[in-house]
Amino acid sequence: MKDSNIAVSQISLLKQKLNAAKTALDEISNDRNDKFKTLIQFIGHLSLACKGQNLELDNKLAKLRHNLQNIDLFEEALPELIDIERLLKSQYSQTMTQLEDSRVGLSKIIRQIQRINSTPDKVKKEINYFKQDLNKPFHTVWDYIPKVETIIGFYEQILGDTLANADDYEILPQHIQLARELAVKISEIEFRKDQRDQILVMKEVLQGEITLDVLLESYQTILGLLLDNIAREKSASQDFLYALNDALTVVRDVVNSSHNNNQRSHQLKQQLNKEINLRVSNADGIIVDVDDVTDLKQQLTSQLSSLKDALSRKEALEQREQAILKKSIESMRKELNNITQEANSYKEQLFEHQKLNLLDPLTQLANRTALEDRMDQEYRNHIRFKTPLWIAITDIDHFKSVNDNFGHTTGDKTLQVIAMALKNSLRESEFVARYGGEEFVLLLPDVNEEHISQLLNRVREKIKNIPFKFKNQRITVTLSIGAAQVMENETVEEAFERADSALYKAKNNGRDRVVIDL
Ligand code: GH3
Ligand code: MG
Ligand code: MG
Repeated sequence: MKDSNIAVSQISLLKQKLNAAKTALDEISNDRNDKFKTLIQFIGHLSLACKGQNLELDNKLAKLRHNLQNIDLFEEALPELIDIERLLKSQYSQTMTQLEDSRVGLSKIIRQIQRINSTPDKVKKEINYFKQDLNKPFHTVWDYIPKVETIIGFYEQILGDTLANADDYEILPQHIQLARELAVKISEIEFRKDQRDQILVMKEVLQGEITLDVLLESYQTILGLLLDNIAREKSASQDFLYALNDALTVVRDVVNSSHNNNQRSHQLKQQLNKEINLRVSNADGIIVDVDDVTDLKQQLTSQLSSLKDALSRKEALEQREQAILKKSIESMRKELNNITQEANSYKEQLFEHQKLNLLDPLTQLANRTALEDRMDQEYRNHIRFKTPLWIAITDIDHFKSVNDNFGHTTGDKTLQVIAMALKNSLRESEFVARYGGEEFVLLLPDVNEEHISQLLNRVREKIKNIPFKFKNQRITVTLSIGAAQVMENETVEEAFERADSALYKAKNNGRDRVVIDL
């Protein structure tokens, strides 16, 4: 009995323990399920966060989310995980490459913005800081998007500023723009003196409110004037060739006829000489044969008179010959004078034309063609004598605003004054040319590195101090200058490029300054 009681109490104890263990197991299982659910929910959210980057990945993640909702489908989801992991990995490296590409793209855009001249100085500084910031790599898209917003902001500021000066941005109809361009082009062509007034009037018309018909008419007139010039030039050289031909014909005729005369008179002379010889030898014969002195005297007198006659005929012949020769020489001399005159006038025309081809009509400075010739020449000297050679490019600052505010004619006059001042500020051995619209190029041989900056700044100051007065307003016109020295083993074109970059820097650093590429 006692034993059975013990057994009963032990069983009940075991039951209790079993129940307790079951409860604990349930709790653990519930807890694990809860954690598992949380994990699955987390994976679901995580997969949603990845959405929108890659369609294949999106589809696979959607399927995964669906499978994870149902615990029975969980097993099915497992193999998918391997695929998803592969996609995630490649997506990561793709995103990183794209971010780097975007960073490079933005840097490029910033460099373009920096080339906009009208950017206000304050914005320019901001752009500079921003550019440095762009050197750091992007880690997420969120590094990228705010930067794009900043760039849009820069554009807005620049645009806002330029639109404030809306006058500069008046959009002209195309034919008026063409007319303005034509006006600039005809200033670059040298017309004959008698055509210049007509051209001046046309320039005024082209700069005004012109109609399409008038523009077409102007094109036609200019074409007519140019063709006339070409035709004249051609006929000048043709006239010269005709004159040369006439002169040669005359000379040939003279030579021919004097040759014929010479032949004829040669024959006559030979005949006369023969006759004279005959007379002389006859006289000898008379002296030998004749004994009677009276007879001899008579015969001698007759012989002598024939001899005299033959001699005077010879003299007359010689005189005639001389006269013909004199006449021939005279007519050849006249012809020679004519041809010399013709050649001189032709040479003058050619020289005038060559000179005009090398001069800029507006400023009377050397033009681009002349600059190229001189640049070659200076470069050869530089190579041969090892002397320094500097190239400086200068561009008038904000010149467009002179035209816009005071008119194109005032702009032209300003260019003339500046051109003259530039020319006067240089030594004999130095050279200045008008390179383009408001750009001039200086060639400075024999200047040492320690003097170049002083020299160019003196030129810059000189222009700055010209007291321009437009519409009763005192205006200061400034220059930006970029310069470079031709280096060893460098072509003159390469040095020119460096000078041009230096000018670009001078403009970007605030204008009215000299930048030397060292
Ligand atoms: P920046 O300081 O950047 O050089 O400004 P800018 O206004 O001088 O430069 P931009 O190149 O924008 O304008 C040059 C102007 O020069 C445009 C054109 O109207 C003017 N120009 C060019 N050739 C002539 C000319 O023969 N006569 C006149 N009057 N103006 C000219
Ligand atoms: Mg310019
Ligand atoms: Mg300029």
